[in-house]
Amino acid sequence: MTVAIHPLVSPWGRFGLYSFLIDAPELAIVDAGIATSPREGMVAELEKLGRRIEDVRWILLTHGHIDHLGGAHALWELTGRRAQVVISEADAPLLRSRAAHVQQYVDVRQQYLPDPDGVEKQTAAAAAVISGEMEPTLLVRGGESLSLGGGVSVSVHAIPGHTAGSVAYVVDGQNDVFVGDAVQVHGAANGFPGYEDPAAYRRSLEYLRDEIRPEHLYLGHPYRRTDGVPYGVELDRAQASEALTESLEIEKRVADAVARYLQDGIRSTDSPYSPFAPVADELGYTGDPTLEPSPFFTTLHGYTTHLASITEESPSW
Ligand SMILES: [Zn+2]
Repeated sequence: MTVAIHPLVSPWGRFGLYSFLIDAPELAIVDAGIATSPREGMVAELEKLGRRIEDVRWILLTHGHIDHLGGAHALWELTGRRAQVVISEADAPLLRSRAAHVQQYVDVRQQYLPDPDGVEKQTAAAAAVISGEMEPTLLVRGGESLSLGGGVSVSVHAIPGHTAGSVAYVVDGQNDVFVGDAVQVHGAANGFPGYEDPAAYRRSLEYLRDEIRPEHLYLGHPYRRTDGVPYGVELDRAQASEALTESLEIEKRVADAVARYLQDGIRSTDSPYSPFAPVADELGYTGDPTLEPSPFFTTLHGYTTHLASITEESPSW
């Protein structure tokens, strides 16, 4: 049987957040948006399709960012707590605790964003956007197969890089692939691709392109092409291949700029891109680097820590 896939859009400020319904005998929703998304977006979207939110049996989270798991607890409540809530082990702390999100900000972005109220703002955002802290009902790490009834199954693949615990869900037999934010191309509204671990990001993109080879690729946001025009969130085979190749090319461009620049060391300047201003210059990046979630700093921090760890691990003889 062929299973239908439907995008579910819910509003968030200037943006639309994308979740997806897998219309299997046991209904599954991939990603949960923010706290208000299930009630303000998904209920009506499912009704239009003749489905009821209380019948959802699977909540499949691609990763731990607030705009993907913020609605998980609220959606779980709407199912009468009968849905399985699935997330990777590595990102599960972000479902268990709002404080884990604030800690990520403190550990990485805060040092580049001089804002004395930063922690307070992050704490307030986590309180508003995450509907509840909870223990996932099923932890995955990649390699699992989930049965959605009627012979429909979804396999789980680890695709770390955007976050440590990013996973892809693949509808077996029809190769429909849900990746959340793991395929960034040029990034979304901020115009810069965001990933915590550049080497893992590259490997995951190659894995998706060369091993998984999606028939359809479903994205968490309308990421932009080189010409600035966004892809939609539902890509066919040719578009998927193009988006994966483009993402790899852009990663290489950033990596090359970082490698050249880091030979001279990191220097703080007055630039809003400090201490990575030469990289922004070379890449022609003119977006506001301070706008949350600040992918410019997350990504460049990833390169600097990655290069530092290579240096530390090198034999000293
Ligand atoms: Zn994300």
